[in-house]
Amino acid sequence: MSDIVIRGGTSPDIAVEGEFIAAVGHDLPGGKREIDATGLAILPGLIDAHVHFNEPGRADWEGAETGSRALAAGGGTLFVDMPLNSSPCTINANGFDQKRAALEAASITDFALWGGIVPGNLNDMQDLAERGAVGFKAFMCDSGLPEFPRADDGTLYFGMVEAARLNLPVAVHAESEEITKTLAGRLIAEGRHDIPAFLESRPVAAETEAIRRAGAFARDTGCRLHIVHISSGSGVAAALEARRLGADISLETCPHYLFFTEDDLLRIGAIAKCAPPLRDTAERERLRHAVLQGQIDIIGSDHSPCPPELKDRASFFEIWGGIAGVQSTIPVLLETGVPPERIAATTATNPARRFRLTHRGAIEPGNYADIMLVDTGGTTHLGGTSLLHRHRTSPYAGYALKGAVVQTIRRGETIFRDGAVTAQTRGRFVHA
Ligand SMILES: [Zn+2]
Repeated sequence: MSDIVIRGGTSPDIAVEGEFIAAVGHDLPGGKREIDATGLAILPGLIDAHVHFNEPGRADWEGAETGSRALAAGGGTLFVDMPLNSSPCTINANGFDQKRAALEAASITDFALWGGIVPGNLNDMQDLAERGAVGFKAFMCDSGLPEFPRADDGTLYFGMVEAARLNLPVAVHAESEEITKTLAGRLIAEGRHDIPAFLESRPVAAETEAIRRAGAFARDTGCRLHIVHISSGSGVAAALEARRLGADISLETCPHYLFFTEDDLLRIGAIAKCAPPLRDTAERERLRHAVLQGQIDIIGSDHSPCPPELKDRASFFEIWGGIAGVQSTIPVLLETGVPPERIAATTATNPARRFRLTHRGAIEPGNYADIMLVDTGGTTHLGGTSLLHRHRTSPYAGYALKGAVVQTIRRGETIFRDGAVTAQTRGRFVHA
């Protein structure tokens, strides 16, 4: 007799034994426990391959305890933490070991880790690979954090050579430093500190140029390339062109680029500031179309919050850029019109495959029982106490979003149900 049988109604049932899925099929025999999911969408647990939980060192911005609880409330069973803005950053063995220990002590979901590429750390990449990093993140423009300097072209190129040797992907924040720095400098010299000035300083061309350059490096070095948070339809086109030319390239976007436009940034202000910035309606429509066409491989939240005081600056250029989104991915995608099958592909199956998170990302016998149950006819209101991350701000506050995560099961254990976190055990480090 299985430990749990999830009854799918018209969808197949799922039998869970211990941490694993034992069987998937209609009319499975009874389990010790039964979960009635009739009428609910049964999806693989969300894998958020792009979060900044900032632990250790900046847990006052966000921490793994609060961040992982918010993730679980959003249907998530695993996150991959970026190498910044923790302190130390994850750019060598010591930084990796410290972060792994901190997250093991605090997270209720499973997790994996990105290493970083910064000038001078190429000799540390092998240590990071041996410790199980899923890949290496580099910034092509200023990261906003002095201890994580951007990778100049030489660093990025030879970082890709080393990553290819280690058989791991490189993820890039693709915006041109030349363009963004020059434009910001000119605007600030004119005394401009307003939101439109910030938007002008980070045009779509800064994104497409950087994507093309990274794509050329990837082709030349044989490195697998992952473009994080593509903000525009033009950015997708540039990445697909790089793929056509021979680069092994995966595309990520974030829910906020699919939901908001730059008009929303003008209205909402600081809590909707991110880089690359929100785009105009035409770019957003092309990005939405790309998701529906299956051209976007992965959707990550880029959850990157900060204390409220860092969002409160006279100059919009000085305000910390980062959106709190770890809890809202599923309802935002449903609201945007992304069907459940595409949600499963972009938030679970594809990230598991791309980052070699084995036995995860799909509801199949032999995989971990990482499952979310979603009421696609329900409604999600995000705000106040319903937000489980450290700072209860969300650009989606005030919206009634389509669909609601009802239950999250991580390795057979229900860690979230009906609005409450129920996890009894800690998450586990996952080696790529
Ligand atoms: Zn990020």
